[in-house]
Amino acid sequence: EQNRKSMMEALNQYSSVKHVIGVASGKGGVGKSFVTAMLAVLLNRKGYKVGILDADITGPSIPKMFGISKRAEINELGFIPERTAGGIKLMSINLLLEQEDMPVIWRGPILAGTVKQFWTDVVWEDLDYLLIDMPPGTGDVPLTVFQSIPLDGIVIVSSPQDLVSMIVRKAYNMAKQMDIPVLGLVENMSSVKCPDCGKEINLFGESKLPAISREIGVDILGRLPIDPKLAELVDKGEFERFSSEYLADAVEKIEKL
Ligand code: ADP
Repeated sequence: EQNRKSMMEALNQYSSVKHVIGVASGKGGVGKSFVTAMLAVLLNRKGYKVGILDADITGPSIPKMFGISKRAEINELGFIPERTAGGIKLMSINLLLEQEDMPVIWRGPILAGTVKQFWTDVVWEDLDYLLIDMPPGTGDVPLTVFQSIPLDGIVIVSSPQDLVSMIVRKAYNMAKQMDIPVLGLVENMSSVKCPDCGKEINLFGESKLPAISREIGVDILGRLPIDPKLAELVDKGEFERFSSEYLADAVEKIEKL
């Protein structure tokens, strides 16, 4: 409680954030940014004020999904987040770099310091929900997020392979050790949706998700197929225009927090 209070006090002085939700994964490339962006858009469509803090410093992909490549303004109040067409506020290292294709070759403490600054120095103003695209894995930077940003809970995104290995359980155990509630699991890319007939094909056989969910006692919040229509929207930087409701249950759970 005391910790939470001091974390809240560290928030940028011109900002007030009601709920903070982390989107985590045991490893990269499983669709964590994709799920973060989808949740943000769905909440925004419901009329909430939403921001996305891209804490995936070495693999930032949020701005591109929304077609944003402008440099963020920095003024005497702090870093000013960019806004998507629909009004979602974004802060990402890619909005601060001189060239968005320059790699960030920084050691752990610098990465961690940047993530902290996205909480303390970004002028988020009033938000109902701040979604955090967490750095993947269980290293230095995710640890900093857990220790410096007051998360209300995390959503764990996994690929079918992670469910077989220990990766999901590692992500789950990290949150548990840090006393952060796990809101639930989202399985991504376990099936593919035919763009012509809409039929879903399970690429890896029957899902392991129900078994893992029972084992660790965490809800299933959704299953996302590989959807070529969504991939195309990502590539065009028009992700905000998607029209699928794969994560409706996850949104409902977040609204109840
Ligand atoms: P992570 O944040 O876990 O590293 P991303 O969200 O960047 O992963 O996803 C990796 C790539 O796969 C991105 O190009 C993303 O647009 C694409 N992708 C993820 N999930 C889906 C999906 N369900 N359908 C289509 N493309 C997807």
